[in-house]
Amino acid sequence: MNLKSFCRLLAPLLIALWFLAPIAAQAQPDATFPVFEVSRNTPGRMDVESRMGVLVDASRDLTAGQVTAPGQHWQSISRPSPNFGFTQDAYWFRFQINNPNPQELTRFIELPIPFIDDVRLHHYAGGVLRTHYALGDELPFARRVVMHRNFVMPVNLAPGGNLIYIRLASSGTIEAPFRIWDPVQFHAASNDENLLQGTVIGVLLIMIAYNLFIFFSTRNINYIYYIGFVASYLLFHLTLTGYTFAYVWPHAVRWNSFAISSFMASSMLFTCLFAGRFLKLRQFSMPAFYWVRALTLLSALLLALTFVLPYSLTVRIGAAVTLPMAITALVLGYWRWWTGAKFARFYCLAWTAILIGLCVLNASKQGWIPLNGWTENASEIGIVLLVMLLSFTLADQINNDRTLRLNAQAAALAHERHARATQQALIRATEDANRELELRVQSRTLDLHATLEQLKDANDRLQLLSTTDGLTQISNRAYFDTALALEFRRAVRQKCALTLVMFDIDHFKHVNDTYGHLAGDACLRALADRLRPRINRAGDVFARFGGEEFVVVLTASDLASAIALTEEFRAAIESLRVEFEGQTIQFTASFGIASAIPQPPLCAQDYLAAADKALYQAKHDGRNCVRSATLPHTTSEPL
Ligand code: GH3
Ligand code: MG
Ligand code: MG
Repeated sequence: MNLKSFCRLLAPLLIALWFLAPIAAQAQPDATFPVFEVSRNTPGRMDVESRMGVLVDASRDLTAGQVTAPGQHWQSISRPSPNFGFTQDAYWFRFQINNPNPQELTRFIELPIPFIDDVRLHHYAGGVLRTHYALGDELPFARRVVMHRNFVMPVNLAPGGNLIYIRLASSGTIEAPFRIWDPVQFHAASNDENLLQGTVIGVLLIMIAYNLFIFFSTRNINYIYYIGFVASYLLFHLTLTGYTFAYVWPHAVRWNSFAISSFMASSMLFTCLFAGRFLKLRQFSMPAFYWVRALTLLSALLLALTFVLPYSLTVRIGAAVTLPMAITALVLGYWRWWTGAKFARFYCLAWTAILIGLCVLNASKQGWIPLNGWTENASEIGIVLLVMLLSFTLADQINNDRTLRLNAQAAALAHERHARATQQALIRATEDANRELELRVQSRTLDLHATLEQLKDANDRLQLLSTTDGLTQISNRAYFDTALALEFRRAVRQKCALTLVMFDIDHFKHVNDTYGHLAGDACLRALADRLRPRINRAGDVFARFGGEEFVVVLTASDLASAIALTEEFRAAIESLRVEFEGQTIQFTASFGIASAIPQPPLCAQDYLAAADKALYQAKHDGRNCVRSATLPHTTSEPL
């Protein structure tokens, strides 16, 4: 397996498997000269493979003359792949091409390794040097004999034996998979190869453009890492296959000499960045994160160094770094998938695809499976699958993230709805509670009002009871005392006359004794009923003073009218007939009047005393009469 295959296979990441490839073909002493017969009937392409002699020129100073001279230590190659690895030695190869035709026959000798520094071909026929080429990637592209990305050297084969000596020297690896081509077949195969490579390039460019658009819409930095990786790999691949030197920088010999290292390093750099971010290592595992971070820094450092250090050194460092990187990329992917990160599945598939591609190509090179178009281009198929699956991986992750976001949004929405429903239920409950409270307050207020009404009624009743005489239903003594004091103050204020009439039923004991105590009560009630309608002016008070004694307070009434009114009372009592248990009871009463405009130091009690005195006088004067008494400090004349 040569470096080209190895690089194609592994891409910058999987170059690690380069270590699986045979480093150097073992050489054994051999004096024979391998012979290839070419005619119009032989295949258009013949692979020299290991069927050639090899001479190692450690001093790098052997001339063609010295090499073709007898006695040189030519060896045969025992391994199928003529890959000699990194070496400072110059290598000479020799084989013979027999032309059985009578005329010359043109054949191309192709070395499909575009990065060999120095390629020299010597073609001898009949002991004469017929053709000599000095090529190599250290010369501008224009110096090529055939303008092709690979080294293609036409030889006009003389009839009979033609000896081909080719010297290779390079700062990279020495690989010598020579092919002998019929020119027509070569161009046809070259077109096919261009079509294939063009397709691969096209796919990768489309993926770059497509993902660039997605980046512009999503602003997800992973797309930039992905694009960086694909672009780096594409340039690496094109440089490795000689396309960039042929078409992009045919004069930039120095740049071309280390561009492979630079693109390899940038591919690794973007792979690390992509893997680190895509696999979300920071949230997953800090050791893994720091490990990938270290590889990232190493790749970045290597990228910078490719511009300073010799290609032979940087390409070796690059190849060495890819091993831990390839293992890291794969193992971390599967680890993430294993621990439940569903988004890592396509990532793993992508790297597995390129791994399978590598294995298929390696197996075909080793002869374990037949070499055909599929197996030979397994690396291209692998890389296309890798690039497409990685793109799919990104889309899948975006989709997953979107689903997660949508789910989170839906959950938040449901939560909010629930919260709002709860809030509304709370508001409703509060409103209900308020309404109920209001109703209860209203009901309680009504109850309270009713209770207050009842209380007021009770109070009124109580008031009435406390101021009313139970037997006669006129005011009682307590009420009278209060009313007299009140009317007295008013009379003082208004300077108007106040009259107090006191009367006592005559010989009431006799009524009781004769008719019974209940009859006496009936008489008291009848007296009250008879006089009550006559004492109807505002401010006038009619009260039972005690026993069968009564008092009347007359306001704003002078003595004359008071006497007249009292006379009416007397007459009314005299004319009263009380019917009790079939008997008619008749009685009279004696009256005492005290009337005056109150003046200091007169007091309410003075009226009582005066009235009582007048009553006593009435009793004394024979009862059933009206008498008045003078009050001290007044001007009223007694009757
Ligand atoms: P007079 O006043 O004319 O001098 O003679 P009197 O018989 O009325 O004399 P007195 O004032 O001593 O007697 C009053 C009587 O009135 C005594 C008592 O039995 C009676 N009496 C007092 N209060 C009541 C009462 O509420 N009901 C009844 N039936 N009798 C009463
Ligand atoms: Mg009495
Ligand atoms: Mg009496």
